[in-house]
Amino acid sequence: MTPSADLRYLTGYDAKPLERLTCLVLPADGDPVLVVPALERAAALASPVGATGLEVAAWQETDDPYALVTELLPAAARTGTLAVDNRMWAEKVLALRTAVPDARQVLADPVLSALRMRKAPDEVQALRAAGQAVDRVHRRMGEWLRAGRTERQIGRDIAAAIVAEGHVSVDFVIVGSGPNGASPHHDLSDRLIEPGDPVVVDIGGTMESGYCSDSTRTYVAGHSPPDDFARYYEVLRTAQDRQCAYARPGVSAEALDAVGRDVITAAGYGKAFLHRTGHGIGMETHEEPYIVAGNHLVLEPGMAFSIEPGIYLPGRHGARIEDIVVCTDEGAERLNTTSRELTVLAG
Ligand code: ZN
Ligand code: ZN
Repeated sequence: MTPSADLRYLTGYDAKPLERLTCLVLPADGDPVLVVPALERAAALASPVGATGLEVAAWQETDDPYALVTELLPAAARTGTLAVDNRMWAEKVLALRTAVPDARQVLADPVLSALRMRKAPDEVQALRAAGQAVDRVHRRMGEWLRAGRTERQIGRDIAAAIVAEGHVSVDFVIVGSGPNGASPHHDLSDRLIEPGDPVVVDIGGTMESGYCSDSTRTYVAGHSPPDDFARYYEVLRTAQDRQCAYARPGVSAEALDAVGRDVITAAGYGKAFLHRTGHGIGMETHEEPYIVAGNHLVLEPGMAFSIEPGIYLPGRHGARIEDIVVCTDEGAERLNTTSRELTVLAG
């Protein structure tokens, strides 16, 4: 495992991915060793790694770190299966392949995803705190979002508030006004907000704990929105509400997707809901489980994911409503609780 959310999840060490090799060697049997460049040994020991008793092996600037990793591998792994984390840089994957030519490389994802997608109570609490922090930003939207300002100006204010309300970093700020709202992954532009524009605001950041927030609300600037917008926004709200009520252990990811899609399709907007319902969230904003057609995965208590249906009319406007939910024993708890009613910000 090289620096990644997987490494942080396993060790607590939030190492930066850099050219020098940092690598947790984790045999199926036996004790793990964290290989670090000598100049990062102090940083590794200052992290939660220091208190765990995990062995830290430092390599000097002129050493070959891949030779050190090879020495630490059990003999069986050198000719057996070597799993590498999904976010390992290609140059490191290939260097490992050269250093251990007889091992079969596979992705560590099946092992790590199974652990990470079932959140323990302290992880749920960390996600709850992240949800509350981003909700505080949404509650302040009227301070910044108004006609006559650009998406970029508004986005800058939102980014500052994401940090001010408790995150350590801003992961993304989408302000999609008018026609830009029809592009789900629009970010910011210099478009001036006009009175009556629907505006999709999708924002998230990372907390000190390493856990992420992600919430979307669609606002209207200035005065009432176009008629058809108000109509399909209500369709969207019904779909999202139904999905949040339906989410529970025992339900499959694809069935949860279908529950919202059916509502939107019945109202005639099926083609305008052009993405999956949601994604898991934890130490990364997008992780398993994915709430999408074709995913037979059955939800379990502790799984946390977004429910974010959207309706997008190219060239005109769009809307999305997104909450993070966590499966409890009987249902799902929404971790975002700001109003989902169509909100006209007076400005
Ligand atoms: Zn989002
Ligand atoms: Zn999302």
